[in-house]
Formats: sequence, structure tokens, C-alpha cells
Amino acid sequence: MVLEVSRWSPPEIVEVAVSEDEREWVPTANPGVHVRPLLFDTVRGAWVNVTRIRTTGLITRHAHPCPVHAYVIKGQWKYLEREWPATAGEYVYEPPGDIHTLTGHEEESLTMFWITGTLVELDEDGKTTGYADVFTRIAQAEAHYEAVGLGADYVKKYIR
Ligand code: FE
Repeated sequence: MVLEVSRWSPPEIVEVAVSEDEREWVPTANPGVHVRPLLFDTVRGAWVNVTRIRTTGLITRHAHPCPVHAYVIKGQWKYLEREWPATAGEYVYEPPGDIHTLTGHEEESLTMFWITGTLVELDEDGKTTGYADVFTRIAQAEAHYEAVGLGADYVKKYIR
């Protein structure tokens, strides 16, 4: 049996994960926190990015109904609810249902996240304040690329 790549198989993505082109870093609602998109998976409802944190203190409190995988490339960060910091070289599995408050460290951190499903933003009382999914993340990146001159269509190279 000879295996061939199916014509239905989507194209691969090969990118420098920690981009040196600042235009590829999308600002978030949190000053000092940028995300560098790598994949927007519109079929599974998931996305992959490198998150760059250059701020200390509380960043965001949220719930994940679906799993998250993280690999810390550089630096460290912490969830207020946990004893451990996530440090360079470590892999973190956030199980479905996890609720945590991300906090930055003095040193810059870089982490690759693979986020599935939805990220539900919460206030201090645990009340829902918003959400993110692959489609809100696409819209955020699209608007940023347009604003920095790359053009809104630049987002297409990350969409599968
Ligand atoms: Fe999270």
C-alpha cells in the first residue's frame, strides 16, 4: 500500500515561534502582555500561540472548560491558586474545569500555549465578564495586523 498526502489535508505551518518581527505580536487587553499567533484551528475550536509577559502582578482570572497545554520557553509565571511557578523548560497541563489567576514575574516570560474550547474571563467574585475562543482571537489578530500595516488577510496564514 502506497500512502500519499490527501488533497484534503490542509497545508502545514512552519514559523519562527518567538518572532523577531514586533508586528507579529498582538497586544492583549493587559498592558505588557502580547501573543504571537501560530495556529487558529477553526475545526476543533482551538488556538496555539506564544504568550509574552512583560509585566508583574495580576494579569487575568479565568476558567477553562476544555484543556490547555503549555510549554514555558523562557522566564516564569505563576497562578495565584497554586504553590508552584511555571518555569522555563516545564510543561503544564491545565485540566478541563481549571480556574486560575495568571500573574507575571519581573523577568520577561515566553510560553507556548495550546488552548482548546473557550477561555471564560472572571472577576474577583467568580462572575463571568467575558470570553475568548478561536474566533475572537482571529478577530483580535486580524484587527492588529490591519493596524500595523500587514493587512487583515495576514491572519489567514494561521487559520486551518
Ligand atoms: Fe489559563
